[in-house]
Amino acid sequence: MSGHINFEDLELKFGYSCMPDRLHYYSKEENDFRMEVRRWCETHVAPYAEQIDRNRDKNLAVKILKEMPYLDMLIPEEAGGQGKGILYRTILGEELTAFSYALAGIFGASSCLFAGPIIEFGTSEQKKEYLSGIGDGTKIGAIAITEPTGGSDAIGGMRLKAVREGDYYILNGEKCFITNGSVADYLCMYTITNDQVKQHKGMTAFIFETDTPGFEVIKDFKHMGRRGMPNSHLRFTNCKVPAKNMLHRENEGLEVLLFGLDGERTFTASQYVGLARSAFEVAYRYAHKREQFGKSIYNFEANSFKIAEMYMDIEINRIAMVQIARMLDEGHYLRPTVAALKARIADATVRITQDAVQIVGGLGYSEEYPLERYYRDAKIGQISAGTSEIMRYLITREMIRMWGK
Ligand SMILES: Cc1cc2nc3c(=O)[nH]c(=O)nc-3n(C[C@H](O)[C@H](O)[C@H](O)COP(=O)(O)OP(=O)(O)OC[C@H]3O[C@@H](n4cnc5c(N)ncnc54)[C@H](O)[C@@H]3O)c2cc1C
Repeated sequence: MSGHINFEDLELKFGYSCMPDRLHYYSKEENDFRMEVRRWCETHVAPYAEQIDRNRDKNLAVKILKEMPYLDMLIPEEAGGQGKGILYRTILGEELTAFSYALAGIFGASSCLFAGPIIEFGTSEQKKEYLSGIGDGTKIGAIAITEPTGGSDAIGGMRLKAVREGDYYILNGEKCFITNGSVADYLCMYTITNDQVKQHKGMTAFIFETDTPGFEVIKDFKHMGRRGMPNSHLRFTNCKVPAKNMLHRENEGLEVLLFGLDGERTFTASQYVGLARSAFEVAYRYAHKREQFGKSIYNFEANSFKIAEMYMDIEINRIAMVQIARMLDEGHYLRPTVAALKARIADATVRITQDAVQIVGGLGYSEEYPLERYYRDAKIGQISAGTSEIMRYLITREMIRMWGK
C-alpha cells in the first residue's frame, strides 16, 4: 500500500481534462487560442501562482500581468488591439484562472472593466490617452462603483459627489472593494453629479488619474481568497478632475455602467469554470492513486460520484457558457440567462472545490496541495460582480418584465 501522495507525485498537467479533441463546441481557431493561452500560463503563471497567494504578492502579480500578450484583447483592431469578443474572453478567463484566479482578477479589472467603457463611450482623445497604456501593460486600470453605503444597491447607495467648478469637477467621497485600487494608474469611476434626483438619473462616469492630489489608498483588504489581487478602500478629498475626463454625458453614467454588464458577468463565469476544472483535475488523479481499505479510493462511490458530479457541472456549464457568449457576441439581450449562468457556476464552483478538498482529505486541507487555495478562492464567485442572491433577485424581476404577473 502506498503512503502519502505528494502533489508532485500526481504528475499532473493542468488542462488534461479540457483538450481540443473533446471540445467540439469550439472552432479550430478558438481551440488554438485556448492552447496558446495555456502554454503562456504554464510558463509565466504556474511557477508563481502559489507565491502570489501565500505572500499576497500583488507586485509579483502585477509584474506578470504587465508581460501578458492579451492586455489589448478588447481594443478594436482599427485602434491597434486584438478586437476579440466575449467568447474569446471566456476562453482566456478559464485558462488563466485554472492557474491563478488572482491574476485573472487583475486582468479583468484593467483590460476589461476599465477599458471596456472607454472603448464604447470614450472620445477619440480619451481612447488615445488611456487605452494604449492598458494595451501595452505600462498602465493599470480599475473600475470604481462600490462604496461603503452602496454594495448590492450600488446605485441607490452611491454618495461620492462630483461638483462642477469651471472646467473641473471636485470629487469627495469613498470607494471600497476596488480591485487594483492600490496599483491602478486610472479608474473608471462613478459619481453623483445631481443629488436632487434619484441616483440613477444623477450619476456620471469619469476617467480618474490616481496621481491626482487628494486621492488616498486607505488600505488593501485582506481577503480569504484571491490573495495577491489588490482590492482596496479609496478616499477622494477635493480631487480636481478635468471636465474633459467625463465619460459619455453628465448624469448619464447609468448607461455606461450597464453597458457590457452581461459580457463581464459571462467572463467572470468563465473564471469559475477554470477554477472548478483545476480542482476536479487534482481530485480525479488523486482518487485513482490513493489507496485505502486495499483499493484506490476511486472505487468507493462516495468519492467517484462526487467526481462525476464535478464533471457534470463543469461540462454542462461550459457548454452553456459558450452558447451564451456566442449569443452575446451576436448582440442578443440575455440579462436573466447570464444571471442564471453566473449564479449556477459560482455555486457549483464552491461545491466542487469543497468536494475536491474532501476527496484529498488531510492533504487537501494543507498547503501541500493547491486545493485549499481553490476553496478559499471559490467563495468570491458568490459575492462579487453581483452576489448569487442578487442574480436570483434579478431573474425574478426579469421574469415579470418578460411574462407579466
Ligand atoms: C474581492 C472583491 C472584488 C471586488 N471588486 C470590485 C471592483 O473592482 N469594483 C467595484 O466597484 N466593486 C467591487 N467589489 C464589490 C462587490 O461588487 C460587492 O462586494 C458586492 O456587490 C456586494 O456588496 P456588499 O459586499 O456591500 O454586500 P451587501 O450588498 O451589503 O450584501 C450583503 C448580503 O446581503 C445580500 N443582499 C443584499 N441585498 C439583497 C436583496 N435585495 N435580496 C437578497 N439578498 C440581498 C447579499 O446577497 C449579501 O449576501 C468587489 C468585492 C470583492 C469582495
